[in-house]
Amino acid sequence: MRFDLLIKGGEVVDPATGYVGRGDVAIRRDRIAAVERDIAADAAFHVIDASGLLVTPGLIDLHAHVWHGASYYGIDAEPVGARTGVTSWVDAGSAGAFTFDGLRRYVIEPAKVRIAAFLNISCIGLVAWDYELTQLEFCDVNLFEMVANRNRDIVCGVKVRMGATTVGTSGIEPVRRSVEAAERCDLPIMVHIAVPPPGIQEFLPLLRAGDIITHCFTGLPMKLFDDHGRLLDVARRAIDRGVILDIGHGAGSFAFRSAEAALAAGIKPHVISTDIHQMSIAGPMFDLPTCLSKFLALGLEVREVVAMATEAPARILRYQDRGTLRVGALADIALFRLHQGSFPLYDNTGEVRTGRQLLRNVETIVGGRVLERRPMTPRAVWAEQWDRGGTNARMRGFQCELVAKGHTPDQMCGCG
Ligand SMILES: [Zn+2]
Repeated sequence: MRFDLLIKGGEVVDPATGYVGRGDVAIRRDRIAAVERDIAADAAFHVIDASGLLVTPGLIDLHAHVWHGASYYGIDAEPVGARTGVTSWVDAGSAGAFTFDGLRRYVIEPAKVRIAAFLNISCIGLVAWDYELTQLEFCDVNLFEMVANRNRDIVCGVKVRMGATTVGTSGIEPVRRSVEAAERCDLPIMVHIAVPPPGIQEFLPLLRAGDIITHCFTGLPMKLFDDHGRLLDVARRAIDRGVILDIGHGAGSFAFRSAEAALAAGIKPHVISTDIHQMSIAGPMFDLPTCLSKFLALGLEVREVVAMATEAPARILRYQDRGTLRVGALADIALFRLHQGSFPLYDNTGEVRTGRQLLRNVETIVGGRVLERRPMTPRAVWAEQWDRGGTNARMRGFQCELVAKGHTPDQMCGCG
């Protein structure tokens, strides 16, 4: 019986199975049917020539915002997926109990990419940019439990954002309630860290094995390192008991200095995710392949960064048949060109590192079907307003400068 699709002649990188090297990937219906060194072209109805390309499992973005049209941060995931290789998306708390049905019906169900979600512990989710936990009445564990349990096919955790303006006078009570919700529903918690109070010393001890710290290499004051770049004891204890470190680059939450301090201390992130949203999509975050390229620039291997965006998030999300090219897994596949050259890569503090490699997506396949590249959905009006100035004008100016200088990833490698 012939294969439906054959991806031929590429360099396979599948950290979950350990297959790294020349290989052909065959697909039947929506599943991986074979991965072998050489499969004859006439064994398939359709062949994609992957010579000179990396062939990886479809990327899994553990921290994204895709509730577009009805939340402050949400972007339209599908056109982004088609040009970045991200086949599985996890919305990180854009919806709370009051708005989750809409996310499900209007975004997740019609999408050609796969989407799961962390349900916000705040019933209102991220309708606006901040303040969602200043009213503890919105932090209703019973309601969380009801909504989570009716949507167990797509709810994969509890999202709670910790920061001075987000929680106001609520202190660490939102984390306590998140732990209660997580225990009742058997879900992990994803905690966002930003600016104190409260201090991370107060709430990191509440996190359990399998819970996730997102923005783990932030340059903001809740960072996991002291001013000398030493890992805080409270962070060390969290990591030792199995708390997961997730990048969540975003528009303000990734600093090369923090990443370098961590790597120097022997600490690598478990997961590289984007925190892609209406603002960060315009750079310097841009997209997941760009985030992976930043870690290549910091000295990690291709195989490691691919693992951090496939195998690792799949394990955390308990996905049996994703994040790998194992025979029988879903045929979610990404083809990349690894451009060689000299590429200026920026963090959110204006620091630059020169990358020698830049990963750009060539083709994205979900369930055996190539995702069609269609125009990007225009950004929200408040994103344009943000570009022009507003609360963090220095960042905005810096971002426009990147575009003007031709420092977007597609401009750098000549893809765009
Ligand atoms: Zn986020």
